[in-house]
Amino acid sequence: MTSEVPSLPKFSELNLIEPLLKGLDEVGYETPSPIQALTIPLVLDGRDVLGQAQTGTGKTAAFALPLLSKLDLQQKDPQVLVLAPTRELAIQVAEAFQKYAKYLKGFHVAPIYGGQDYSGQLRMLRRGAHVVVGTPGRVMDHMRKGTLKLGNLKCLVLDEADEMLRMGFIDDVEWVLDQLPEQRQIALFSATMPTAIRRIANNYLREPEHVTIKVKTTTAETIRQRYWTVSGMHKLDALPRIL
Ligand code: AMP
Repeated sequence: MTSEVPSLPKFSELNLIEPLLKGLDEVGYETPSPIQALTIPLVLDGRDVLGQAQTGTGKTAAFALPLLSKLDLQQKDPQVLVLAPTRELAIQVAEAFQKYAKYLKGFHVAPIYGGQDYSGQLRMLRRGAHVVVGTPGRVMDHMRKGTLKLGNLKCLVLDEADEMLRMGFIDDVEWVLDQLPEQRQIALFSATMPTAIRRIANNYLREPEHVTIKVKTTTAETIRQRYWTVSGMHKLDALPRIL
């Protein structure tokens, strides 16, 4: 599958549940982005997805919307786990889920990351979270302690997988992958596809659909770019002279 989306559908044509459409209306999204138009039907259909896309393409909503649409809100054990490379991204993704789910009554998302004490996270997990978004090390800690149980997990999302590799988390990611229930869906998103990420995709994803979104250059062609190398100290002196 490629990035060509002949004409973008409307959100209302993508089989998302009504409370989410209401939430999207409020957030102000009018049309799905290409990665959303391609990915939402696949995730709704239960397919594994290998998505090559950068931040800014709308990839968060591309996985969050269909996964929210499929949640069983009566079941309090985590149904979706998202692994992200940094606490900032984990928080951002958890906030996105919360925002889209504004009209899903009783929905809970728990952000779980290192550098924060365990007590608040334990409280959230005990109360019940339909979606957990976390950094690999802390997620692994909770799983080892038995405070995060993935027996009822339906879907794992690896967000910015190449960043998790670059930051040295890939062994933790594989450990988590090895603990998943046999019946599960995986969506892996990465801006680049280095060998280690391809290997993970080959080993853990089942007949994945490939979605590639090419980002066009953001600089207008009429803009000419030049640079002048100066040492840090002299930047402020140099800039007015160039201008
Ligand atoms: P992401 O690539 O998921 O980090 O999203 C980049 C930005 O695009 C975020 O600020 C989103 O809120 C916004 N966004 C995502 N999908 C849409 C959409 N369909 N319409 C308008 N904005 C969107």
